[in-house]
Amino acid sequence: MSGKAAMKKILGVLEKRFGGLRSLTEDRPLDQLILLLLSRGVAEKKAHEALATLREHFVDWNEVRVSPLHEIEAALSPLGQKGMLDKPTRIRALLSLVYSRFNRVDLDFVRDWSDRKSARKRDRLLMAISDISPGLPPILLAALDGLGAAFRNDPEINRVLTRLGLVKTGGTTPAQWRKSVREAFDDGDQLVLLWGLHLLAASYCRKSLPDCVHCPLKTSCPSADAEMEKVRAAREKAKEKARAEARRIAKKMAAEARKKARETAKREAQERKKREAEERKREARAKKEAEAARKKKAAAKKKAAAEKKRVAAAKKKAATAKKKKAAAAKKKKKAAASKKKASAAKKKTSKKKVTKKKVAKKATGKKKTAKKKAAATRKKVAKVTKRKVAKKPSKASRKKTSSESARGTSKTKKKTSSSSAARRKK
Ligand code: SF4
Repeated sequence: MSGKAAMKKILGVLEKRFGGLRSLTEDRPLDQLILLLLSRGVAEKKAHEALATLREHFVDWNEVRVSPLHEIEAALSPLGQKGMLDKPTRIRALLSLVYSRFNRVDLDFVRDWSDRKSARKRDRLLMAISDISPGLPPILLAALDGLGAAFRNDPEINRVLTRLGLVKTGGTTPAQWRKSVREAFDDGDQLVLLWGLHLLAASYCRKSLPDCVHCPLKTSCPSADAEMEKVRAAREKAKEKARAEARRIAKKMAAEARKKARETAKREAQERKKREAEERKREARAKKEAEAARKKKAAAKKKAAAEKKRVAAAKKKAATAKKKKAAAAKKKKKAAASKKKASAAKKKTSKKKVTKKKVAKKATGKKKTAKKKAAATRKKVAKVTKRKVAKKPSKASRKKTSSESARGTSKTKKKTSSSSAARRKK
């Protein structure tokens, strides 16, 4: 297959997958960019119809910018479900970006880039809109400056061309390829090719890990197998790396878990030790308390025993006192009895004494009487004697007088002994 035929085949595949515009019909740059977004994956006619319905539904692009996605989606109904893709989101994102960067909802200013300020502004815009879609900047450049400016040396396109075998080291250079494309294809094909190659580079033929499996040019790409193998190897490497990372993380986690377990065990051991110490302390305290309670109980028992003893002693004392009292009472009674007896005896004795005294008095009286009598007798006798003397009494009369006095004395004696016998009898 010649180079041109190969390029034709690639162009057809790219147009089928990514769509694109064959003519840049819109006057205003922002309208052109929106039409480009609408053309992705659909025929150019459908893209134009969708743009027309958007204009009908909304007053201006600012209204589209602030409208909900479902309203934009409703306005894009001519695209059909298959061609809708994420176009409402991308259109609204483009309008928001323009508004936020340039505080307006049009890009008319990019037409004029005569001064450095305007050129910088345009460069900023081209960089920014590549985030919305990588195909927008080259097509906008083509619209503004022509296809010559759009087909410039781009590392993204050069990578795709190299992988497709259209550009080779030591063979066709990117510049030669661009020249051959410019010569072989008309402007429409060139626009579609430019759009398609940029979208392919961004969507499938990425710098690292190209998605050759899903790439629409997989069958005609000589690098597909090698790139797929590279991807496989890279994925395997990534998987191995992920496994190694997982092992490392698992090892780290296991080490952390072991460390944690050690710390937990240490903490638990410390807590156990602490608990045991506290338990011992509690036991010692309980023992001490029990000992104190036992001592207290013993003391109480002792006290109770002492109290009992004291009570018993008191009882005994009381009993002794009672006994003593009883004995004393008895003694007192006895003493009283003895006193009474003594008193009675005394009384008796005194009575006896009185009697004795009386007897003695009586005897003394009698004695006195007798003495008196005797004295009187003696006096009488003396008188008589005197008179006798005077008259000289005879011997017979003196004898009679003495016998009479003797009789008188014996009579008195007899009387005294009879009264004593009578008292003893009593
Ligand atoms: S098959 Fe792979 S290497 Fe070839 S163009 Fe497609 S993505 Fe790029």
